[in-house]
Amino acid sequence: MTNGVIFDIKEFALHDGPGVRTTVFLKGCPLRCAWCHNPEGISPQPQTMRSLRGERIAGREFAPHELARILNRQAAALRACEGGVTFSGGEPLMQADFVAETVDLLDDLHVTLDTSGYASERDLRTVLARTDLVYFDLKLIDAAAHRRYTGVDNAPILRNLRILAGSGVPFVIRVPLVPGVTDTDENLAAIARTVRGLPGMQRVDLLPYNQAAGGKYAAAGMAWRPDYDETRPLNLNTAVFETLQVKVRVQ
Ligand code: SF4
Repeated sequence: MTNGVIFDIKEFALHDGPGVRTTVFLKGCPLRCAWCHNPEGISPQPQTMRSLRGERIAGREFAPHELARILNRQAAALRACEGGVTFSGGEPLMQADFVAETVDLLDDLHVTLDTSGYASERDLRTVLARTDLVYFDLKLIDAAAHRRYTGVDNAPILRNLRILAGSGVPFVIRVPLVPGVTDTDENLAAIARTVRGLPGMQRVDLLPYNQAAGGKYAAAGMAWRPDYDETRPLNLNTAVFETLQVKVRVQ
């Protein structure tokens, strides 16, 4: 049995997959996105969050059967709303065995994996075998820009995208639009070319920048230092997708 560390369980989530969902936020992420709005999801360990309202611990260990019991209590209601469970983070594939063991105990619930795509092939395949739908992030296609803004190479992500496309599991590409970073015509066109024609891809979702991204950094004892202009208007260029017949929507 593999225990996991979770920093939130959000009920009645409407944007994390089809229908009404319960979203499980797993702690730990190998990326360091300059725009991350869940800094408490980065460290794999429980941590103290401090604010004017006091202190709280973000992160608690769960056994698979403990989490599955919580989720199964909601199963009938989630199925009635054509929803299910979404594993998000942080990066849920950092705790692939815990996710897999939990899913194996679920009572016929639709499972969505919300991932950065940065993981070993083994961890991806372990969870994919138990997943109905994947939300797969693509941020930057240029390798140097990806390293600069996320701290990691994008080669494993692009490899895993090809594995996903060959897996038979349907997926949605999610692009966080960060002003002057990911929302450039060049990057959006490169994403469109990368995903065009991939088997199983349902659509591309463009996610406009969250201006409150830095809000939780002080509470997590971390510094918020975006090296881009947060106030710059976003480039919502859907035409680069439409001209390549890639279905796109702005969330
Ligand atoms: S992949 Fe997501 S959780 Fe990880 S650092 Fe980037 S935005 Fe944050």
